[in-house]
Amino acid sequence: MSPHVLILGGTTEARRLAADLAARPGVRVTTSLAGRVARPGAVDGDVRIGGFGGAEGLAQWLREHRADAVVDATHPFAASITANAARAARAAGLALVVLRRPGWRPGSGDRWHPVPSLDAAADALPGLGRRVFLTTGRLGLAAFAHLTNLHFVVRSVEPPEPPMPPDVEVVLARGPFTVPDELALLRGHRVDVLVTKDSGGEATAAKLTAARQLGLPVVVVRRPPLPDGVTAVPDVTDVLERLGLTPTLP
Ligand code: NAP
Repeated sequence: MSPHVLILGGTTEARRLAADLAARPGVRVTTSLAGRVARPGAVDGDVRIGGFGGAEGLAQWLREHRADAVVDATHPFAASITANAARAARAAGLALVVLRRPGWRPGSGDRWHPVPSLDAAADALPGLGRRVFLTTGRLGLAAFAHLTNLHFVVRSVEPPEPPMPPDVEVVLARGPFTVPDELALLRGHRVDVLVTKDSGGEATAAKLTAARQLGLPVVVVRRPPLPDGVTAVPDVTDVLERLGLTPTLP
């Protein structure tokens, strides 16, 4: 019988994995999306959208849809679904593979300020600058809402909603971004400090290079830890190996 793999998605890596699995005869793949983005990019294989109703709901879905394995390929900051995936896979007696792209590493000349949370990033900001480029996603703006004396340039795929700081300029854009794009944005908005999550990956790394070139400080929010006993693999090839499949990707 065809193995059925559930991918918990919402990332580029999840889409790449779905494309690989969907191209294999005899493998069935379903990607699950949270439904946060109105128009998600195309995904190969089956797609389902919306929450499962916690770990129990996910475990039930896995049983009902006769899944054979779960791959958590969600964003490194999507900690709730990752915790649910670990519990649900255990409850359903299935293999879980967690795919996490590696975090970014500071290079020579970087002025990084690592912090443990968005709240800590907000605490650090007033000492670092007045014009802030905030790239932590539209759902994390509440942590900065009390900073009434700072000017924020917020970049997100879809328009942010309150609560958010009073002095906000919104830039609607979807990556990937290039270093010249980011230099133009930082200069054009006279940004003097950048805030980012340690998302990792190529698509949004150019802002870090641009900040280095301009000598700007960067507040980097560290990743939440993985659930106890869970380890992650860094790329799609490792996931395929864990699933017992031969990599076909270039
Ligand atoms: P989260 O806090 O870990 O999850 C909150 C709830 O959303 C989960 O309990 C679950 O609801 C539902 N959910 C999350 N991911 C899901 C998925 N792939 N399929 C079905 N339900 C899902 O997650 P988040 O930070 O809100 O992120 C939501 C999605 O956006 C994730 O899939 C993630 O990959 C993507 N994303 C997140 C970020 C980020 O910075 N957090 C950035 C880019 C993309 P139930 O408990 O009802 O199942």
